[in-house]
Amino acid sequence: MRIAVVGAGLTGLNAARILSEYCSVDVYERENTGGLAGSVFINSYWIEAFYHHFFRSDDYLITLLRDLNLYRRAVWKTVGVGQVCQNKIYSLSTPLDILLYPGMSLLEKLKLTGFTLSARRRDYRKFDEISVIDGLKRDAGEGLLKKFFLPLLKSKFGENYRDVSYAWLLARVSLRSNRKLKGEELGYLRGGFIQLVDSLSTELNIVKENARIGKSGRWEVNGRKYDAILFTAPLPELNDLLEKFEIPQIKYQSSICLLMGMKEPFHSSLYWINYENEPFGATIEHTNFMPLEDYGEHLIYAASYTTPERLYGMSDKEIQRVYTQSLTKYGLDEKNITWWRVFRAKYSGPVYEKGYIKRITPYRISSNFYIAGMTSEPNYPERSMNGSLKAGHEVANAIIKDHLS
Ligand SMILES: Cc1cc2nc3c(=O)[nH]c(=O)nc-3n(C[C@H](O)[C@H](O)[C@H](O)COP(=O)(O)OP(=O)(O)OC[C@H]3O[C@@H](n4cnc5c(N)ncnc54)[C@H](O)[C@@H]3O)c2cc1C
Repeated sequence: MRIAVVGAGLTGLNAARILSEYCSVDVYERENTGGLAGSVFINSYWIEAFYHHFFRSDDYLITLLRDLNLYRRAVWKTVGVGQVCQNKIYSLSTPLDILLYPGMSLLEKLKLTGFTLSARRRDYRKFDEISVIDGLKRDAGEGLLKKFFLPLLKSKFGENYRDVSYAWLLARVSLRSNRKLKGEELGYLRGGFIQLVDSLSTELNIVKENARIGKSGRWEVNGRKYDAILFTAPLPELNDLLEKFEIPQIKYQSSICLLMGMKEPFHSSLYWINYENEPFGATIEHTNFMPLEDYGEHLIYAASYTTPERLYGMSDKEIQRVYTQSLTKYGLDEKNITWWRVFRAKYSGPVYEKGYIKRITPYRISSNFYIAGMTSEPNYPERSMNGSLKAGHEVANAIIKDHLS
């Protein structure tokens, strides 16, 4: 049996790795192996084009890292997180920080704790047709919505935030709200996720081509015949097959990340800072997580989510100028920037709109056409490395069960 896997992101790579033990597999990739989790080589080290870390709850990823003998490179750290309020950065890392944060009253902080505890007990699926704004207004109140949730929603979804379902927020809160008293512990692979991508892909036949899928009797990719197709790229890349297979439309958001190398740190300790009313939603200071000596310079991302239509509204140079100008308000000294790069992804994740749960993509589309990736079940309520790797494994199992066992 011969299978074509479209896309060498984490879904495609993990599925292909498993399938190639049973049959012949070609993986088609038109850009970078690793997809959204891909890396770039700067000076003397590899760094992800888009910031990446993992969580204690990422069971599949952690087990895989152990199996690939990479877990010895994993580093866990309780990182500092912050929020801008009235043009000033405040740490929200510990309960004391939260108590001292001036952006909410004590009553609102108590209400937030109560909301978080009750969100964990609720069946989020029942709230999939309600908008996050309506749900929060009702259950958390206007004050908390405006002062706490809106900045986070805008940072996460850009201008798409109004379309998001309340189910997504409730599911997300229960997934992420069990942080320890001293803050949230995050994981990173020292040396970068390039090691995971390399390890998954070493034995694979990766064809560096834009895959065009066709059919004349059997399925074809770029004129080569296959017994089955596994499609792991974003759904809009299916073009007219999307309608033919009657796959529900899913709205995607786009991402822009400005990555800068700096002589001095931007913030003395915080890894992640959320902003409101700035051209970016968050800064992620990688070297406030990983040791500076691994890179020899400070690394900081300024990240924003936008719509595919607005992705190319500004040139790289303009993005760099506008983002750094904003950051000077918070203490960035532009003289410290030694280099910068802008990365863009047109389809960087689904917008978890109202009714999204019904639209989660099944693996088996027909007896020999399969789909897996960011819109598969393991990537709800958060698309992640863990979710994509797991989707890759699950779809490989489905193909093996249907054709190879
Ligand atoms: C800004 C940002 C930050 C993130 N941070 C984290 C994080 O901290 N932790 C975490 O766990 N996850 C994070 N993620 C999410 C994670 O990167 C993704 O969920 C995961 O990598 C998606 O993998 P995938 O294989 O499903 O999709 P993709 O990575 O999108 O892979 C699809 C591949 O298909 C290729 N392709 C598309 N069309 C074609 C075609 N016609 N022919 C051939 N190839 C094609 C693409 O080039 C791509 O390589 C982040 C993502 C972004 C954008």
